[in-house]
Amino acid sequence: MLNEFELRKTKPRVLELTDGGPGVGKSNRDFRFRAAEKVLIDNLDFYTRIHRATVDCQNEVERTQAAVGKAISDGGSIHWEYKQLDIEDNDIKQMTIDEIEKTDDDINKFNVTQTCKDLAMRVENSPGPRGGFMTGLVVGCDKEQLYFYDETALKYYLDTAPSKRQNVPGYHYFQKVSKFYDTHFTEGELYMEFVRFNCEDTTNQICEICKTGWSGKPISTVPRPYPGKNFPYKKYEDTPIEINGKKRKPDDLQPRCQVRILHNEGKIKSDMSNEIQSFAEKHAVEDSSLIKAELHHIELIKFKREKRSEFRKLKTQLEKSK
Ligand SMILES: [Zn+2]
Repeated sequence: MLNEFELRKTKPRVLELTDGGPGVGKSNRDFRFRAAEKVLIDNLDFYTRIHRATVDCQNEVERTQAAVGKAISDGGSIHWEYKQLDIEDNDIKQMTIDEIEKTDDDINKFNVTQTCKDLAMRVENSPGPRGGFMTGLVVGCDKEQLYFYDETALKYYLDTAPSKRQNVPGYHYFQKVSKFYDTHFTEGELYMEFVRFNCEDTTNQICEICKTGWSGKPISTVPRPYPGKNFPYKKYEDTPIEINGKKRKPDDLQPRCQVRILHNEGKIKSDMSNEIQSFAEKHAVEDSSLIKAELHHIELIKFKREKRSEFRKLKTQLEKSK
């Protein structure tokens, strides 16, 4: 069915970079679905979505936003009230309140679109984040024209208990996509990754979709950073994907993730200088105070959580004794 749309052929490997703001994070359940759908629709070989830290100067999202911000603030004011509801107009005087609200809504939409066109013109051909030039586009805002317009149905599916999902509209489709995600994607704290033929690892067989073969040159999973001697990570070509014949697990040497695991096991705390130092050396963190700061952060969250639950207990006791 998709072939009938004659969609533009995309490149077979996709990298998406984002900061971790609400609604764009990889823990957002819609994103798992959308990622799987993108892979299926575009027949991708490789897809990854990576979160960049918010204040990281390597963060492409922030740099793009900064470039757009610069292009827009060119000194000219932004005009937005292109049309106004004319209450002196005879046609409008005859309208019911519903009709007036609808007209007002249409005027707003018109004004927003016009303003966006103005902003897009300012962005057009302005310097981009990496030296090139940007293109400004305004897309239609009709819900039906959106690429993923089944938002309500998807939400309904996800909100329903798994045992009752069979009665939900779109069950077969959503369940198929969900299964594809589970058998093909790997997740770490700050990324998700798809590589064609991952199903072989998780299910011991190649699925119908992967059987169609690579769209481009074969690719393997991207090696996660591996500490070398004296702090720097190993070079890309020296970075192992497997250790002793076993595939490395996501986040196996990711400092922030690992320090949290050790802290939960009671093996490291912010006042254990020796443990912090050896952890930093093992995980290629040159400045061990960063580990200490992260431990402080974890302990503070834990402290607040305990306080809250203590407070709740006291409150219930008080209410009972009334
Ligand atoms: Zn597969």
